[in-house]
Amino acid sequence: MTVSVRKGQLDYFRKKCKANPTEIMAMLLGFRHSADYAEVVQFVYPDLEISTRSETLVSGDEVDRIDELAELLGLEVLGSAHSHPDYLPILSPTDHRLFKDFGDLIVGVCEVPKTGRTRVVFWTRNTSLPCDLVYEKEKKKK
Ligand SMILES: [Zn+2]
Repeated sequence: MTVSVRKGQLDYFRKKCKANPTEIMAMLLGFRHSADYAEVVQFVYPDLEISTRSETLVSGDEVDRIDELAELLGLEVLGSAHSHPDYLPILSPTDHRLFKDFGDLIVGVCEVPKTGRTRVVFWTRNTSLPCDLVYEKEKKKK
């Protein structure tokens, strides 16, 4: 699976992860171009009902709001991305379970070490290999 993202949006996500001592998450809106190529067009930040060092929970209302937003923009909800404060950018057992329950295509995890750089890894189901990450050219503003 190849995942393309806008670099500016990924950098902003990494900054937010770094700035928050508890987990944050973003919903990933975009296109599923083929079985092995997904394009993330927009990171959307829902209000979180729960945000601890090892857990986030988005309220049902927010999930509905983002579903509607995606439809309005002509995009698909591809999955989500969240931070792992002081933990590796791999899926936890809970992440695996939710991945299946939500039927997401991709899940991104941002490692936030105590010191040093953050790192985002995208995962898809049914493979233990991380996704290839490529940067989509930002569209020039008119
Ligand atoms: Zn996680």
